[in-house]
Amino acid sequence: MDCLFCKIAAGEIPSDKVYEDEKVLAFKDIDPQAPFHVLIIPKEHIASAAEITTENSSIVAHVFEVAAQIAKEHNLDKGFRIVNNCGEEGGQTVGHLHFHVLAGRNLSWPPG
Ligand code: AMP
Ligand code: ZN
Repeated sequence: MDCLFCKIAAGEIPSDKVYEDEKVLAFKDIDPQAPFHVLIIPKEHIASAAEITTENSSIVAHVFEVAAQIAKEHNLDKGFRIVNNCGEEGGQTVGHLHFHVLAGRNLSWPPG
C-alpha cells in the first residue's frame, strides 16, 4: 500500500523517532506547529478515526498512554494538546491514523 506513515512505521522512510514499541511509533512532525510537535501513529494501517471499531479501538487507549509517557519524559508540565484531524473538512492530509501532540506555547481555541 502506498501510505507514507506505513512506510515510516516500516522504517522505509526515515523519521526523527521519539518513542517506539510493537504497536505504535512516535516521531517529530516535519513541519512543527509548536516548539514540541510529535505524531503518534499505530503501526497497523487504520485510515482515520472514522475507521475505529470495537475490534481496533484498544490502539487508541495505547496511543493516549504513550502520549502521557512522552509528556512526562519531555517535561510538558505546563500542558499539551492531543489533536486528531479526521477527513477532508477535519483537516486530515495523511490517510493513516495519527495523533498530534503539541506543546511549548499557548495554544489557541477554537481552532481555525
Ligand atoms: P494531518 O494534517 O492531521 O493529516 O497531519 C499530517 C502531518 O504529517 C502534518 O503535520 C505534516 O507536517 C506531517 N508530515 C507529513 N510528512 C511527514 C514526514 N515525512 N515526517 C514527519 N511528519 C510528516
Ligand atoms: Zn498506512
